Amino acid sequence: MNLINEEHTYMLQTYKRQNLVLARAKDKYVWDSRGKKYLDFFSGISVSNVGHCNPRVVAAIRRQAGKLIHVSNHYYVEQQVQFAAELVNASFPGQVFLSSSGAEANECAIKLARKRGHPGGRYEIISFINSFHGRTLATLSATGQMKFHKGFEPLVPKFRFAPFNDLAAAKKLITGKTAAIIVEPVQGEGGVNPASREFLKGLRALCDRHDMLLIFDEIQTGMGRTGTLFAYQQYGVTPDIMTLAKSLAGGLPLGATLVAKKLQHIFTYGDHGSTFGGNPVACAAAREVLKILTPAFLAKSRATGAYFRHGLEALVRRYPCIKEVRGRGLMLGMELDFPGKDIVQFCLERGLIINCTQDRVLRFLPSLTVTRHDVDTALKILEDAWQTSKK
Ligand code: PLP
Repeated sequence: MNLINEEHTYMLQTYKRQNLVLARAKDKYVWDSRGKKYLDFFSGISVSNVGHCNPRVVAAIRRQAGKLIHVSNHYYVEQQVQFAAELVNASFPGQVFLSSSGAEANECAIKLARKRGHPGGRYEIISFINSFHGRTLATLSATGQMKFHKGFEPLVPKFRFAPFNDLAAAKKLITGKTAAIIVEPVQGEGGVNPASREFLKGLRALCDRHDMLLIFDEIQTGMGRTGTLFAYQQYGVTPDIMTLAKSLAGGLPLGATLVAKKLQHIFTYGDHGSTFGGNPVACAAAREVLKILTPAFLAKSRATGAYFRHGLEALVRRYPCIKEVRGRGLMLGMELDFPGKDIVQFCLERGLIINCTQDRVLRFLPSLTVTRHDVDTALKILEDAWQTSKK
C-alpha cells in the first residue's frame, strides 16, 4: 500500500502535508516510516511540550486506560475534578469547562461572553489582525486572517479586528455592544508576535472600564511554552477567561476554558456540553503534565530558550536577509525577507523539523526538554541552510 496515495484517495484534502510519513516519536525526536531520525523543533505545533511519549505521561495514560476510558458527563468523573482543581490552583481562582480541542475551548469562551452580554444586548467581540483562534465557525470568525474566512461567509457576526499591539485602535472599536476582547499573548500562527506589556495592561484597563471580558487564548502559549506555565504570568495581567489545549494533556486531545470566579454563575445547567470533553484518560495525562512542569523544569527551559535566541540573533547579524528574531521562552520566530519554505525543506532533509508561518516567518517550537546541545545542532543546520542558499 502506498500510504500517500491512499491518503489522497480516502481523506479529504484539507492539509497540504510534507511528503513524510511519521511513524514513531520519543522525547524530542521523531522517526519516519523508513527509520530516519529527526530532531523535532515543531512538536506537533506545540503539543509535545514535555517531549513525545513522555514516560510519565505514558504511564498515567496506561493506568487510567485500564481503569476507565470514558463515561458520560451525566456523571461525576474523578480525574476531571482533580485536574480542574490543580489547574485552578496553578493559575487564578475560578472554574473550568473541559473540552477536547483549542477551537472548542474558544467556542466556550465566546459563548460565555455572549451569554453574559445578552441581557444588555452586548455581543460584539474585539479580536486582532493576524490572530488565530480555530477552525469552527465562531472561532474562524474570531480569527483575524481573512484567508481563512474565504468561502465560508456569512460568518458568525460581530467580531471586529484591530491591529495587534495597537491599543488606540482597539479602543476605537469599543461600542455599547462590546462584550469581550480576545487576544493571544504571543500570536503563534500570525507570525510569532509577542504582545507588548503596555498593550495587554491597556486591554485589561479597557475591559475593567467598560465592563468587558478579557479572554486570553493561551492555547499555543500555555503549559510552559513561553518560559512560565502561562504567558499571562510574565505580563502581570490576569484575564477573565483563559483558554488552553494543545500541550495540555501531553499529546491527547483536551481543551480547557478557565473562567474567573466572578463569572462562575453565567453558565447554568444545559448551557454547554461535550461528549468527550474532559475525557478521563486525557485528564490523567494532563495531571501528569502539570506535575512535570515544575518551576525548576520551567527555569531550565527559559535558559535554553535564551541560549537559542542568542544563537538565532547571531544569525541575524551575519545574514542581512534575516530581518529579526522574536518570541518568548521556547516559542521563537525568525522573520526572513524571502519565503521560508526552501529553508524548511533543507532542514527536513538534514533531519530537523521546523515550520514556516505567514510565508516568511520560521517558527521554532521545540519540546521544552531540548538541551543546549540540541539547540547547537539546530543552529548548525540553519547556518548550513543559509550557506547553501547564499542569501
Ligand atoms: N488558538 C490558538 C492560539 C492556536 O494556535 C490554535 C491552533 O493552532 C487554536 C486556537 C485552535 O486549536 P485546535 O486546532 O486544537 O482547535
